Amino acid sequence: GRPARPRRDLVCPSSMVPHCHKHNPSIRIMQWNILAQALGEGKDGFIRCPLDALNWQERKYLILEEILTYRPDIVCLQEVDHYYDTFQPIMASLGYQGSFLAKPWSPCLDVERNNGPDGCALFYRRSRFSPQATAHLRLSAMMLPTNQVAIVQTLNCQATGRRLCVAVTHLKARSGWERLRSAQGADLLQSLRTITSQGGGSQSEAGSGAIPLVVCGDFNAEPSEDVYRRFSSSPLGLNSAYKLLSSDGQTEPAYTTWKIRPSGESCSTLDYIWYTHDALSVECLLDIPTEEQIGPDRLPSYHYPSDHLSLLCDISFREGPHRLM
Ligand code: NDP
Ligand code: CA
Repeated sequence: GRPARPRRDLVCPSSMVPHCHKHNPSIRIMQWNILAQALGEGKDGFIRCPLDALNWQERKYLILEEILTYRPDIVCLQEVDHYYDTFQPIMASLGYQGSFLAKPWSPCLDVERNNGPDGCALFYRRSRFSPQATAHLRLSAMMLPTNQVAIVQTLNCQATGRRLCVAVTHLKARSGWERLRSAQGADLLQSLRTITSQGGGSQSEAGSGAIPLVVCGDFNAEPSEDVYRRFSSSPLGLNSAYKLLSSDGQTEPAYTTWKIRPSGESCSTLDYIWYTHDALSVECLLDIPTEEQIGPDRLPSYHYPSDHLSLLCDISFREGPHRLM
């Protein structure tokens, strides 16, 4: 038989002060590139992953199991090519409202017997949030439309009466495209500024009047890239949640994806959860599996259905004198 699936712990570092109470319950957010079925079977070339482990009829349960294990309130996914036949109906039956945006020209469509284009999906728990606005964006670079997209969902949090804006994106992959990623990031940041500034200076929001923001994505960029620097230094005041797992609070995890292709082994940090640090605080993070837990054949595998790890954190609204309810 197969060894038990490795457990991941929720870590609440001491620097993160939990102040969870019933009037301000934390919001659990998941970020995950789930690996498009058509790409995994038809394009990626994961030479150390057994073909059986890529069979959709089994792999889909591993993906759903992971979501169900942690019961996030908000789920941000990339490389979704089974939205209408799988995730939309199943997530709806579990109490989530969702939205999907396909890439304009998905590489899945090049694969024989594909299940349609891949794209980004965003789900939120209907019992906790009511929708305020949804934006489906095609990202531009230097004024030109690109093949990458984002969903920006503005929500009303029922427990607190606060608004929250959540975005999901998947930037252009591969080395050599750093400038395109940076331009796509700049375009997304510009759209996010417009959308979140419609906070209108209500008493319940931050002094700037901006709506607190969470941006989840597969940025396809290491922390050394320009697009990362753009996000960490933008006027939106964003911080990357997973830095808080490190002892100095300044260092990203060593990897969020780890795979072996014919071209070699690739272990890198490409996925992020950004949040407005003066309006939101991170209370817990799901830890990153160790190299031993991932195993010598890396990802995906019988235990991990995607070549990317899921990221998950609990976030709550900061309370301050200017943020009284
Ligand atoms: P990207 O370069 O952004 O990558 C698309 C997907 O490929 C991503 O999901 C990415 O996964 C994955 N990927 C990254 N590196 C590799 C690799 N080394 N081997 C295999 N897969 C990898 O694609 P674009 O959106 O820019 O689209 C380009 C693709 O679209 C082309 O490759 C082509 O297949 C298709 N296309 C087809 C056209 C047509 O005429 N039919 C026209 C235009 C595009 P991750 O993000 O996890 O790294
Ligand atoms: Ca991929």
